[in-house]
Amino acid sequence: MNPTLDAILRRMVARSFPELKRHRVAIEYGELERDTCFFYGLDSGRYNITVSNCLRPAPRRVLEGGIAHELSHILRDSRLGPWQRELAFARYARSSAYRMRDERGTELLQIDRGYGPQLLAFVSYAKTSGFHFTSEHGLLRGDISRRLYVQKRTRPAYNEGSSR
Ligand SMILES: [Zn+2]
Repeated sequence: MNPTLDAILRRMVARSFPELKRHRVAIEYGELERDTCFFYGLDSGRYNITVSNCLRPAPRRVLEGGIAHELSHILRDSRLGPWQRELAFARYARSSAYRMRDERGTELLQIDRGYGPQLLAFVSYAKTSGFHFTSEHGLLRGDISRRLYVQKRTRPAYNEGSSR
């Protein structure tokens, strides 16, 4: 267990993904495939997030962007029953159209939870570091910026800590 990653994760769950408090979620650095920065898997009822070793030097904001993305995947998937989830995973593996829809829905949820700016920081960092992204990885930068602009004008974000 990495204490820094774990602390970031716990804080994010407590503040912005309270539904996940009752689930077991673990996080660790590890070796991932090329062009994969974050990954999550489900193993005997525990969600395991792996952060690519390439991101060890990344600033916290960038890590938060990727972790929020994985937490959003987990939140969506945790709403499915075991059989539905099996089906969703199989579709994700097989269909690029499904992946695109799933990634998009995930990032909209992430933005909704207040992690749009961190998502943008992560996408920029990954691009600068030479990772290659397409729309199968989620929203593109212009898209994220536009949504953030709209969000700022409509309501405060979950994780800004404002009392309301
Ligand atoms: Zn994703």
